[in-house]
Parts: sequence; C-alpha cells; structure tokens
Amino acid sequence: MKEFKAESKRLMELMINSIYTNKEIFLREIISNASDAIDKLHYQSLTDKKIKVKKEDFAIIIKANKDARTLTISDNGIGMTKDELETNLGTIAKSGSFDFKEQNQKKENIDIIGQFGVGFYSAFMVSSKVEVISKAYGSDESYSWISSGIEGYTVKKSNKENYGTDIILTIKDEEEYNRYLEDYELKNLIKKYSDYITYPIKMEVTNDKKTQLETINSLIPLWRRNKKDISEEDYNTFYSDKFFDYEKPLSHIHIKAEGTLEYNSLIYIPSHASYDYYTKEYEKGLQLYSNGVLIMEKCADLIPDYFSFIKGVVDSPDLSLNISRETLQQNKVLKTIANNIEKHIKDELINMQIERRNDYLKLWEAFGLQIKAGIYNSYGMDKEKLQDLLMFYSSKEDKLVTLKEYIDKNKDEKNIYYACGTSTDQIKTLPQVESMISKDKDILLCSSYLDEFVFKVMMKYEDKDFKNVCSDNIDLDTEDEKEELKTLNENSKDLLSLMKEELDVKEVKFTNKLKNHPVCLSTSGEISVEMEKVINAMPTNESINAQKILEINANHPLAKKLQDLYQNDKEELKKYSKVLYSQARLIEGLPIDNPTEIANIICDILVK
Ligand code: ADP
Repeated sequence: MKEFKAESKRLMELMINSIYTNKEIFLREIISNASDAIDKLHYQSLTDKKIKVKKEDFAIIIKANKDARTLTISDNGIGMTKDELETNLGTIAKSGSFDFKEQNQKKENIDIIGQFGVGFYSAFMVSSKVEVISKAYGSDESYSWISSGIEGYTVKKSNKENYGTDIILTIKDEEEYNRYLEDYELKNLIKKYSDYITYPIKMEVTNDKKTQLETINSLIPLWRRNKKDISEEDYNTFYSDKFFDYEKPLSHIHIKAEGTLEYNSLIYIPSHASYDYYTKEYEKGLQLYSNGVLIMEKCADLIPDYFSFIKGVVDSPDLSLNISRETLQQNKVLKTIANNIEKHIKDELINMQIERRNDYLKLWEAFGLQIKAGIYNSYGMDKEKLQDLLMFYSSKEDKLVTLKEYIDKNKDEKNIYYACGTSTDQIKTLPQVESMISKDKDILLCSSYLDEFVFKVMMKYEDKDFKNVCSDNIDLDTEDEKEELKTLNENSKDLLSLMKEELDVKEVKFTNKLKNHPVCLSTSGEISVEMEKVINAMPTNESINAQKILEINANHPLAKKLQDLYQNDKEELKKYSKVLYSQARLIEGLPIDNPTEIANIICDILVK
C-alpha cells in the first residue's frame, strides 16, 4: 500500500467525513474527467494520423449494480498508464486549481467543495471504496488503482481489454446513499449536471427483458443551442458547473455569429472575484473549441487583461485544430473573434451600468481595480474604451458616480475635482476638501491608490481637466480676494521665507482656501502627496518627493500669532514652523521625520 501525499490526505479526509449536502456532484466530477479524457484522445486523433478512433464510438457508460452496491463509470478516452494513475490520483490538485493548504485554514470545508471543482476525490463522499481500472491508448498493459480511504492506495496489474478508464465506486452502505444506485436518480443527475457534455453519456435500460444502451444527455452543447430554448436556469447551471462558481453570474452573453466568420460563444460576467483573482496564479482566458472539440482550456488571447475576470467558451468551425500557442497570437480569425467579444462585453457592462446599477456596483467592487489598471497600464491608450466604465465616489451625491454623471451634474465646472486618501471618510476631513465642500463643490473622493495615476494618464475626460484639490493651482477666489491675498503674502515675505528655511518645503504661504484648519499641505507640479506615498511604497528602489507647499490659513488667529512672533521672538517662530509643518504632514497621512524633536517642542510650548 502506498500513502497519499499530505494534501491529498487532508482533502480525502474532508471528502470521507463530508457533511456537505450536495454530495451528488461527485457524478458530475467523474463524468467531467471522463469527458476530458475523451477530449484528449479525440484531439490527438485529429492531429495524429496514427491514432485510429472513430468519433461516433466515443461514449461514457454508466452502470449501477444494486446487489454489489457498485456504480461504474466507463469511458473510452485516453486512459492512464501506471505512472499516471499514481501521480494523477495520488496527488491532489494536479491541475493546480487551488492552494489547498491556504484555503483550508481560512474556510469551512463546505465552502471548499462548493467553490472548486474538487474532482476525483469527491467520489469518496459517497463511496467506501474506489477502484480505477485504466488502459492508456496504445499500451498493452492495464492497471487497477484501489483505495478505501486515507490509509492509502494500491496499484496492480489488471486485464482490461480496451483502452480507456472504468471507475468502480462501491457506494457507502447507508440508506442516504441508496439513490446513487437507482437508474432514475442517476438519469436525473446526468441531466441536471452533465447535459452539456459533448459525448454521449449512456445508461443501460431494460425493456421487455432486452437490455439496451440509452443516451441520457442532449449532446448539443448549450452554446450551440437556440437561445429561445434555453432558460435562465440552464445558463446559470452551465456556468456553475463549468466554472465552479457557487454564486450566480451577473450576466451572460450568448453570441451566435454567422456570415464571414462563424462562431458561437457564451460569455459570463461573474459577480465576485475568485479567491485567486488578484494573485499571480490566476490565469485569464476563454475555453476554446473548434467544432465542439476542446482545443484549449484557457485561451488568453481572447480576452484583454482589463476584462480578465470574464469566463466563457468560444467555439468556431473556422479555427484549425492544429492551432498552437505561438500561432494563436497571429491568428486573424481569433483576433477578430476577440475584438467582437470585447465589444459585446463592453456593451453589456454599459447596459448593466444603466439598467441594473446595483449589479454594476457589485461588478465594480469586485473588478473595478482591474478596469482602472487597464487604463493605467496602457498609458491611456485604452482610455476611450474604458473611461465610461469607471466609477468614483462623489462627495455631493454621497455615492459612486460615473464621470459622465459627474460632468452632467456639474455643468458649469471647467474641472473635475478630486482628492485622494485612504478612505472616503478620511478624505472628507482633509482641510482643502472640507473647505471645497463648504463652497458647494463636488469632489471625487478617491481612496484607491490607482485613481490619481488613472487621471494622470487620462489627462482629460471630454473637455474637462482633472484637478487635485490638494494641489496649489486650485483657483476659486474672486479677483479682490486674490489681490488681498497677494498683498498679504508680499508683505509677509520675510516671515514666510524664515519659516521656509526651517522646513523641507518648496514654499510657505498664506491662503484663503481653508475654512477652519490652520494649515494644510499642497503640492505643486505633477507629483501629489498620494503619488509620492504610492511610489515610495513600491518594492523598487525608486523614491520621489512631491514639491510641498505649507499653506497657512490667513483668517486663522494663528496667522496673527506668527506675525507677532516674527516681530518679537524669531526662535519661537522657528519652533512653531516645525510644529505646523508636522501637523500638515500628519493630516496628509505622511510620517514625521523627527518625531522626538517635535514632541519636545510641543512640550516646551505647552509648559509656557
Ligand atoms: P482535475 O480534473 O481537476 O485535474 P481530478 O482530481 O478530477 O483533477 O483528476 C486528476 C487527474 O486524473 C486528471 O487531471 C486526469 O489527468 C486524471 N484522470 C481522472 N479521471 C480520468 C479518466 N477518466 N481518464 C483519464 N484520466 C483521468
């Protein structure tokens, strides 16, 4: 007896002791493996003349034997060699579909089963013993793999006649499992979960003492069927079976293209990001079929990165089976299909945004970052395609709005105002934001690190400029106010330059734009404080410094105090400068370089 690998053992244990109510999915998993095995042989036969198999002969056969309590699922697919039996069935997640260890710590087992295709091991939810007898195509030998649980498995020689695989499950001896030996129940399960399988799934039926094989599934894949014959539930079931998502998709798009380029496609927009979506393990792509034969599990070229969350299948008779990864890039048919699909997705998203805003908000929460990254990563080249999908939090509306909605609501405004920070609540408390809001301005409160970078590469939306309210070029004052401020700053030139000397800033000046706060930090030039934070937090060694301006509220009592100090106590003024600058940095979420010094100064001032 051989032992299972550690991860396999844990999954086995989960399966054997499963309290998962949906145990019936084991059949779907096994049929799906059988179908994959036939796919592989079918595909090889089309590209390798030496392999002689007939498409009509392919089948998956299911037999129940109540007396022996066995359920046998046979296929005439590619089969497995002795080595393959050991590696494929002795180790879990050969397909790399998830990092089991990590998931296991975080989630209940019920979730794991619902969320992922757990594959072959799910047989142990209903079986006390599993035997796999397999003969690889082209081999003379066959082997039998047997396991009754976590103790391990044995592999021995067998005498299977034909290539392919028989999975023989000994169904657990308790009443709740009896249904898996009833023909009627099995038929229902095949219909329910495996109807889309493109090879016939056959069961023995006895009529008038004659036993015949009857095909249970409808064989025509969903994407080839007429839209009017497909119910919402059919679409959703297909989605959850095929893409192992326990939540309903937000939308499906069924494309049946005819004419110069023929293809069928079924596209789904998921309602949430899969556990691995924002990791580098995630692989984007659509399943690619040529006339019903699967050629590629994940064809990445069919989906742009910014829509990498999209799931679906594409089936076209215009694609050659010999298509390989390299030639895919240059394949014109594929490019055209990809472009078409992208348009459909974009239309559907816009449609959802208008007609089903709540669904769109769900999508935005899950995948908004990806769409923003699309604009940024293309240096703005994909801006036209993506800009209307963007959503930002409007301070006035108190909700997420599109850019179009923002400019429609703020028609007289030349600019699109925004401010950045860690959360909408925090941004609202920034002095500049608070004062802009008090002037009835609408500000996009941007709490994602990407937002400002997106605006920078977009430069404009329609004819409006993006303006960070924390930059120094915000100009809302009347001419009189401007004049007054200019005079004040000129008259206080010496005071301000003395303060500047103490600090690492480009400028110190008085401002009118603050409401209650004594000071704020603004920036001049292209780099804002938020950008400085993001770039400096990156693992590269790049470090940048925003050009900071310390602005002092001209209408605050402090302004007068500073003037007094300049006249009477310049040393004290220097201390005040440092404290005020530290305050402004803290409000912006920037660290203080010399906290001990600042703490001591504050103490000095307090004890005075
Ligand atoms: P997955 O299907 O996600 O790869 P499974 O645990 O279901 O994971 O199966 C493990 C592997 O065992 C499959 O990838 C396949 O290589 C092999 N396998 C399972 N069933 C069959 C079968 N009926 N014929 C040939 N190979 C099979």
